[in-house]
Amino acid sequence: MLDDMLRQALRSQTPMLWINPGVRTQPELFDPALIDQAEQRLKRAAPLLAAGHPALAACDGVVESPLLPADALRDAYSGQGQWLLKADHRLPLAGSVKARGGFHEVLEFAEHCAREHGWQGEDFRELGSAQWRACFSGYQLVVGSTGNLGISIGLMARLLGFAAQVHMSQDAKDWKKALLREQGVDVVEHGGDYAAAVAEGRRLAEADPQSHFVDDERSSSLFAGYAVAARRLLPQLRELAIEVSARRPLLVYLPCGVGGAPGGIAYGLKQMLGDAVHVWFAEPVASPSVLLQLAAGLEQPLSVYDIGLDNRTLADGMAVAQASMLASNAMQDRLAGVFTVSDAQLQRGLALAWNALGERLEHSACAGFTGPGWLMDSEPGRQWCLAQGVNPAQAVHLLWSTGGGLLPDSEFEAWLHQAQAELP
Ligand SMILES: *Cc1c(COP(=O)(O)O)cnc(C)c1O
Repeated sequence: MLDDMLRQALRSQTPMLWINPGVRTQPELFDPALIDQAEQRLKRAAPLLAAGHPALAACDGVVESPLLPADALRDAYSGQGQWLLKADHRLPLAGSVKARGGFHEVLEFAEHCAREHGWQGEDFRELGSAQWRACFSGYQLVVGSTGNLGISIGLMARLLGFAAQVHMSQDAKDWKKALLREQGVDVVEHGGDYAAAVAEGRRLAEADPQSHFVDDERSSSLFAGYAVAARRLLPQLRELAIEVSARRPLLVYLPCGVGGAPGGIAYGLKQMLGDAVHVWFAEPVASPSVLLQLAAGLEQPLSVYDIGLDNRTLADGMAVAQASMLASNAMQDRLAGVFTVSDAQLQRGLALAWNALGERLEHSACAGFTGPGWLMDSEPGRQWCLAQGVNPAQAVHLLWSTGGGLLPDSEFEAWLHQAQAELP
């Protein structure tokens, strides 16, 4: 049941902070052992990836992003504490947060296909042979996407020799479609939104035994792949000599669409760090799907259309009306809360990331930047800090940048020009 006051607040499309009561009412759906398996699988596949593409050779097939100091961005926001940027827009090949989960699911499917055909090996490099590529070419990966998941799945599928079909929603950008088509991916355009594209992809794939559908709303394989990010973050924090503890916790701000990528990362972080980390999601004011689902309870699905929102946002990677139930379930007692962001705030973030850090981000990737301000400057934020014993002026604030690495120059420059004009 959704509270009337909250419904009104969401309908007004004014940015807000929602604190998650954090009470589990539903049994857990996700098996934590899958994260270990995903981590191992990505490790075993690294030599295969390194041999498959120059961008992956450069990182020895380990698809990971740098953790960057971001105090200049903090100053641009008049923030406090220490700010870090987790630069997933720089993830090799895919250029977005979708790389770890997407690559993992394609690799798991490749392993599954090979085993079906009698492969008993362990060394993924064998799967790069002409014989296995010929076998894989008889199978197809299918996915529905606003863009970046399609790129992650499409590029990795083609790299291994699979056919790939990506169902794109109306929000998807033309350059993303063009990039996929250049790589031999079958791009199917839909007039409807993201959920419609996913539903159509699912329907077609289920009718075809040679097709595997990557289900952004339900896949444990994707979710586990995303969660591996947390394992790899810990050594990066250590390298920067950042100690986190329940007394000086890490505060993480993640852009959220359907909830899979940020949910997986948050799940992994809570598994590793427990009370030493607090995770917040950022959602567009027009698409607060996870906020809505968690606030209403998980008994039945509820979409932002049901409360009169239109799901129209500059953040095309987050234009999702209906949250993943798998992710919402996992977040029920793990997520600190959700804040919403306006298009103007996203534009400001894009300009400031460039001006302060020289980083080229897409709008979605900037959604978390207003998070620290909510904890410092809002009544619910201050109360939450008091209750948790967190001092935000001394905390480490980690902003997760989720995409933009593949943006064509012309696209980025047009967005930047518009965004600079919005700065005071
Ligand atoms: C997909 C995406 C997100 C959100 O991930 P979900 O799994 O949809 O919640 C955020 N930012 C960018 C750039 C994305 O591509």
